[in-house]
Formats: sequence, structure tokens, C-alpha cells
Amino acid sequence: MNRRRFITTFGAFTVAAGLPRFAMGQAASLDVPSLKAGYALRLKKLLAAGALPYIDIESSCNSTKIDVQAVAKAMDELNIGLMALSADIGKNRFADGVRYDDLSQRLLASFPDRFIPIGNGGQPPALTDAPGEFLDAQEQAARDGKILLLGEYEFRHYPSPRQAKREPEERDVDIPLDGLEGHRLFRLSEATGLPFQIHYEIEDVLLPTLEKMLAQYPGARVVWCHLAQVRYLERASRYSPTYVEGLIQRFPGLCFDTAFGDGASVYPPSGQKHARIWNGEALKKEWRDLIVAHPRRFLSALDLGQDRMHRMHEYDAKHRRFLAQLPEEVRHQVAWRNAWRLMFGEEFG
Ligand SMILES: [Zn+2]
Repeated sequence: MNRRRFITTFGAFTVAAGLPRFAMGQAASLDVPSLKAGYALRLKKLLAAGALPYIDIESSCNSTKIDVQAVAKAMDELNIGLMALSADIGKNRFADGVRYDDLSQRLLASFPDRFIPIGNGGQPPALTDAPGEFLDAQEQAARDGKILLLGEYEFRHYPSPRQAKREPEERDVDIPLDGLEGHRLFRLSEATGLPFQIHYEIEDVLLPTLEKMLAQYPGARVVWCHLAQVRYLERASRYSPTYVEGLIQRFPGLCFDTAFGDGASVYPPSGQKHARIWNGEALKKEWRDLIVAHPRRFLSALDLGQDRMHRMHEYDAKHRRFLAQLPEEVRHQVAWRNAWRLMFGEEFG
């Protein structure tokens, strides 16, 4: 479906160029001006108190197990500004027919000034076993103006370190980015103005497809999660700060989140330190230089998941060690200003 066709089909979208476009006049749709006002107040309070608030653009959980009060409390203790906490539809609820989890609506009902409404995690089994139904449901939420972001969509995802230890085959996801689902997602982003997050392992053989899709959909707004997280160095000879800079220059709609491990973090299946941005405790100069040269393209992210929700303090400390190594102006861009622009298409304030 081309863009015109989409807009015709889903006439509820307004078409102001360059801004997220929301369904208008529907009871379930977000009240974006109120939401923005609440977010802004919270961020300004934290800044006025001398804290560095950041916007965690990429965390997820099991919505039936999450302790929302505890997360909200930890955000206050840690001076976390906002969080895009998406629900993953697990095996049981998927089997029960769930294709859209309205966790975001519930979070906003309790804490409208700190959670960012986001679609569900595009991961197994939803994206692998019923991709059409899952994308229909996510698209519907976007069309109804219920979310500001989509993601995280796992197209190529090796087993996580924890899964690799437990069941190596459990989550070795390999969905072609230029297949039906990929085209649909890129098109949806172009048509709605909503950004989406992808998990796409860094491998030489995968990069041409990503570049092809970015070139084909210049209006798509893509967050490639986990900057410089290379799990097998021998598979990623092309990837470097220079390569990333080339992408930045060619694709204005592309940005990167900074959810990665610390300098000592090892990916068990390869035995390699997969967070390539680090040299011990320090950022490698070439990666730091890249972020400083393009400070608008990188986003704070914690990548909390249900299995590590109790480790918020640890993840916060790790992320702040990264932010602390950036020049002050850049630090604020990466921590919260860029996410604000991503969501609202305008500068903060
Ligand atoms: Zn990821």
C-alpha cells in the first residue's frame, strides 16, 4: 500500500508534514497536549533540582507481572524522566488470542506524567507465529492514536545471554527485514509518522538489506537499538563508527539507541565483550567522537526486561556511567532532548 492509499484508507490520520500524525476526535486516542504538558513539568522539575533526567526509550516487560508502583517509585529515586515501557505478549497470552496488550493505557491511567505510550514488543511468538494479526493490532492502535512509538521489533535477534545459557534455540529470530513484515512496518511509519524500534544484529550479510529498506522508505523513522553491540566480531567487519556515520549522513530518519552492556559484559555464546563502545571503563574515542559529531541521533535506553526489572538501580548506574562521559550539551541531547523530538517532532520547551 502506498502512502496516499494508506491515508485514504485510514482517513483518521491528519497529514501535517514532519510531525507525528494522530487520529482525531476518538475517545480512546491520546490527549497529546496534556501528555506533553505533564512530561514537560516532570522533566523541568528534575532539571531544576540539578538532576539529569533521561528518557528510557526502550524497555519492556510482562504486563501481567509488572509491579507498576515499584517501577514508578524507582524512577523517582533514580531521577529517570520518562520511560517507554512496552508489553511483550508472552506464550500464554498469545495462545489466548491476545494481539494487542493495552499496558500503555493502564500505565497512563496511573502515571500520566512518566510513561510513554508504545506498541507491543515485536518478538516471538507474536511476530513469528501470527505476524499479520499482530501487525494488524499494532496498526489499529496507531490508527486509533493510542501510541507514540512502535517497537521493539526483533528481525534478527540472537538468543539473549540469559536464554543462551538456558535454551539456546529459544529465541534465535531471523525474519527478513525486506519481507512482508518489514515492508509493512516501514510503510506504517511513513504513513503515520510514528517511529519504530528494531533489533537487528550487526552482521555484514544483514547490512545491505537494512540500507536498502532505509533508502526505499526515506520517511520511515527508525531507531536501531543497541549501538555497537556486536556479538560476533568476525561477522561484522564493515561495522565501525565510520560506517555508522555514513548511515547517519545518508538517512535522516535513522537514529540509534544506547542500550548496551558495560565494558566487562560478555556474550556467552561467542565469549566476546559485545559492547564495542567501551575500552575498559572508558568510551572509545572514535565512538565518543561520533556521538559528539552527531549528537541528535543517539538516544538513552535501559533495555530493561521482565527478567531484569528488579535491577533498575544497576541498569541506571550503568547508563549514567555512559552519559557522564559525554560533553554536557551532548549529554542532555542524548539523555532526553532527542527522545522528545522523536516523539513530538519539535524541540523541548
Ligand atoms: Zn533489543
